Amino acid sequence: MNYLQEIAYLIGSVGFVIGLKMMGTADSARKGNLVAAFGMAVAVLATLFLNETGFHVIGNLGYIMGAIVLGTVVGTLMAKRVQMTAMPEMVSLFNGMGGLAAALISIIEWTHLQHTGETVGLGLFVPIVAGLIIGTVSFIGSMVAWGKLNGKLGDFRFPAQQYINALVLALIFVAAYLTFNGIGSDRMMWFYITMVIAIVYGLLFVFPIGGADMPVVISLLNSFTGVAAACGGFLYDNNVMLMGGVLVGSAGTILTVVMTKAMNRSLTNVLIGMVGSNSNGGGAAAGAGGSVREVQATDVAIMMKYAQKVIIVPGYGLAVAQAQHVCHELELLLENEGVDVKYAIHPVAGRMPGHMNVLLAESSVSYDKLIEMEDINPEFNTTDVVLVVGANDVVNPAAKTDTTSPIYGMPILDVDNAKQIVVLKRSMKSGYAGIDNALFYDPKCGMLFGDAKESISKLVSEVKAL
Ligand code: NDP
Repeated sequence: MNYLQEIAYLIGSVGFVIGLKMMGTADSARKGNLVAAFGMAVAVLATLFLNETGFHVIGNLGYIMGAIVLGTVVGTLMAKRVQMTAMPEMVSLFNGMGGLAAALISIIEWTHLQHTGETVGLGLFVPIVAGLIIGTVSFIGSMVAWGKLNGKLGDFRFPAQQYINALVLALIFVAAYLTFNGIGSDRMMWFYITMVIAIVYGLLFVFPIGGADMPVVISLLNSFTGVAAACGGFLYDNNVMLMGGVLVGSAGTILTVVMTKAMNRSLTNVLIGMVGSNSNGGGAAAGAGGSVREVQATDVAIMMKYAQKVIIVPGYGLAVAQAQHVCHELELLLENEGVDVKYAIHPVAGRMPGHMNVLLAESSVSYDKLIEMEDINPEFNTTDVVLVVGANDVVNPAAKTDTTSPIYGMPILDVDNAKQIVVLKRSMKSGYAGIDNALFYDPKCGMLFGDAKESISKLVSEVKAL
């Protein structure tokens, strides 16, 4: 045993754990990312240049270095160029690459074992086939999620889809069983059949997800990639790979459970693609329709300046408009006037978990001003003005009242309990779930139309001028 390699792997693993812990708060998240990346660099170098017996340069170093350089250049360019609003798509794309890598490991190792004719016991077979299935589903599912998030792919549904999904899931296990028990070339054929069924499942699993349920699926796919990577760790008896995979898998699973709770969904339903499978885009919110009341920045500024308590509800439109800095300016201005200002954070506001926290932390909004949904909801009935900045689905009462709505059952921010509501958006267009919002027709609600950044800038000037 080479202790140097073991120590390097230990440093790598500790780097992952500390990095992950630091990512728990916005203040230390950036450094946490660097610590985890350092751990990964140590682990990769130890794998390339150390083995059980001492210093050793791994074979195919030229190819490996070429791939590392290519990946680094492409990854860096993509990360630098990505718009904040396109971040979730990029996360899906990168997650898919992790799944693909895990599936490729399984394909290579299985092919190799078939060529050598080595007897494969269950202990070796399970990580290989699990890596193949989970990695493939994660790759295909993430690609579909990527396409759906950037609007290139729509929803695809057919009758009894959830039963067919459950059947396809069962077929994967049958094919895996036949792979294990097959003889000679049959085993290779069944292995590929298992992969093809996993591809079909990946497509069927994510395509019907619509409405407001993509976040659950994205975090589930993330945990799949972690589990698939952990299978690679088992296969190669590589502790740091196992540790990294387990951390991603468990963090993703915890996030999925938190999300399903926040969205009031069941995990089983997510797995067989039942989530959000009601009509998407067509269902109007109960009570939607009627006339909306348009308001002007001057009136809103007066309302807010003389209010005692204002709650700001940020949503995806805040990210699109990049209005976080000016929003913070408005918050400070109002606080100077003696107004109590807080932010209401819905768990799936925006397009990725923690999207609003990241945006607002970027503009130095104090963390204790960001109040989670369960804690802020009881406060709305003592609030004078709620300023909804580019949020739509997360404040849509249809989630509580319209059983045919794709977002039915999702807990929402109860902004309609406040005395006055002002919604900042550009038009009457719907949000991600593609449905109308009865809140906008509420007599207490005023619409301040325009880009959120421009509207808030006007509000800042008006409050200053008062
Ligand atoms: P929504 O997508 O429901 O609504 C965003 C609103 O912002 C739109 O109605 C749009 O209206 C408005 N908007 C867009 N650009 C601007 C702008 N420049 N200025 C002002 N307004 C703007 O957002 P929510 O945050 O309320 O809800 C998030 C949705 O996304 C949920 O359905 C959630 O499930 C889903 N989702 C969330 C993920 C996550 O992990 N958080 C991942 C994937 C999906 P208009 O065009 O009229 O301006």
